[in-house]
Amino acid sequence: MQTIYLDHAATTPLDPKVFEAMEPHLREHYGNASSVHRMGRKARFAVEDARERVAACLGAEPGEIVFTSGGTEADNLAIKGGLRARREEGRTGLVTSASEHEAVLRPAERLQEDGGEVTILPPAGHGAVSPDQVAGAIGETTALVSIMHANNEIGTLTDIEGIAEVCRAHNVWLHCDAVQTAGLFDLDVTDLGVDLLSVSGHKFYGPKGVGVLYVSGRADLGPLLEGGSQERDRRGGTENVAGIVGLAEALERATEAAEERTEHLRGLQKRLVDGLDAATPGPFVLNTPVGEHPTAPHVVNVAFPPNGDGEPVDGEMLILNLDMKGVMVSAGSACTSGALEPSHVLEAIGLERKTASAAVRFSLGKDTTEDEIDRSLEVLSDTLQRMQGG
Ligand code: PLP
Repeated sequence: MQTIYLDHAATTPLDPKVFEAMEPHLREHYGNASSVHRMGRKARFAVEDARERVAACLGAEPGEIVFTSGGTEADNLAIKGGLRARREEGRTGLVTSASEHEAVLRPAERLQEDGGEVTILPPAGHGAVSPDQVAGAIGETTALVSIMHANNEIGTLTDIEGIAEVCRAHNVWLHCDAVQTAGLFDLDVTDLGVDLLSVSGHKFYGPKGVGVLYVSGRADLGPLLEGGSQERDRRGGTENVAGIVGLAEALERATEAAEERTEHLRGLQKRLVDGLDAATPGPFVLNTPVGEHPTAPHVVNVAFPPNGDGEPVDGEMLILNLDMKGVMVSAGSACTSGALEPSHVLEAIGLERKTASAAVRFSLGKDTTEDEIDRSLEVLSDTLQRMQGG
């Protein structure tokens, strides 16, 4: 049976060239980057070289790059560290949106539960918030705005440059979760106008368990993890040297190929969306606003509302049935699938519960082919017909 992996927004396969770059640091160069002997210096050199390469990809200074254990930690560090850093100025407020990743939403909600000043903006039907909405929510005590670049469940892009202008005008720091767009778009931090930006290695053919928080020179924040002075006192813990080298290699490769990859993905996204009409026996709702609002090129989120008087399609069963035929996709996001809760993003864009629970996210990768898209549409069509009794 042909297996087709269409879950690249959850994670991507490790590029063999990236593994090649990492391997010596997993075998012979095992020194601790803080040790002063030659083995330690070798590790330190690898980390600092990686830092320079990552900084170059993001248009940042090497000193502005903090290596973390992934996107979740980068987001947490941005929110918690950012708010702590501005407390003395009397700026304590956070503005974010209801369609953020849980790594931003959960810290925001906890802060709110603890009596913090948190505004969670509702996104429009397409899934993004606007610069005007952010401007309306900013007050004199707002410290930080955290808004994602592309939504991980439905792919909607947000006007980060526009939001950055608003933030700058009010002396508010802007954090952007760019985990889904790193390696697909030019993420020059100066052009974007952000103060903090999160990326994660495993989303662009790098290793899992390593990420980056870009921290602009003006956003001087303290650590979340204490107990070591690594990363200039911004993140304690022995450096994951192989992971850091792998992330730099993967980001460089992805940045070089970004235009070509994005064009390829756009073609596949269109092919998939165009094929949905013929593939679905009943009605469907396209949650990724392709053609109506800017989107990331690799995501297509579609839901299947109840067909006439029929029972709604069970999303979990749909995914398992697709998997049995070799097609691997996600329900909403990988983080919420398994928990069987309707996606908070689909709820935030106003999708009815019944429909939201039958949503599927196809996410395409650099090596996905047109044939794989066509085959997936065939499998989807067969599966839906069986499930909807067609
Ligand atoms: N932010 C977004 C938008 C994501 O899609 C993800 C992962 O799914 C994360 C953050 C978390 O990243 P990580 O898996 O590296 O912790």
